[in-house]
Amino acid sequence: MGRSNVGKSSLLNALAGSSKLARTGSTPGRTRAVNYFLVDGRYYLVDLPGYGYAKAGKGDRERLARVSESYLESGAASASGAGGTPRLVVLLVDGKVGATPLDVLALQFLESVGVGVVIAATKADQVKRGERERQRRAISATLDLPESIPLVFVSARTGEGLNELWREIRPFGRGSEADTDISQ
Ligand code: GDP
Repeated sequence: MGRSNVGKSSLLNALAGSSKLARTGSTPGRTRAVNYFLVDGRYYLVDLPGYGYAKAGKGDRERLARVSESYLESGAASASGAGGTPRLVVLLVDGKVGATPLDVLALQFLESVGVGVVIAATKADQVKRGERERQRRAISATLDLPESIPLVFVSARTGEGLNELWREIRPFGRGSEADTDISQ
């Protein structure tokens, strides 16, 4: 999940190109659909609606609250066969822009839910190598990121960081309820 325009669709497409990913369908959310992708025939990657449209404010917070909270807390995925509450959420932040107040809010929410989190800093191709560490520190500081949450720079454009991101995602797919469903 991530704010609108953070590069989520592009990253999903790039991830689809670097692995066996199949779009399996979607359930309509109150505002926008939640899309499911089956990875390697074993587990699900779930595309949650973006948050933080042009006019950031109460409406955005409510949108995030409605769609993502209901998905993350009520195990909405179960109804569509995607195996219940997720174990890991990939929170996308714009690698060039840095973390926004809504990203901070999103992370606080995810931590309150108790789900695993990995931060993907998108559009890494726009951040020069020499600026990477400074930007990593800035994003970490803004998000007040604990050491336990990894931050991976990714670029849908160049493919940078995709393998590293998969390495963070894959362990959460093993032995999941989704595995059991599929093997039966
Ligand atoms: P979404 O709204 O989060 O799904 O974002 P999109 O995937 O539609 O991307 C938003 C904008 O960011 C588009 O103009 C993309 O071309 C651009 N973008 C997405 N990923 C990258 C990337 O890895 N590098 C660069 N330079 N631009 C990107």
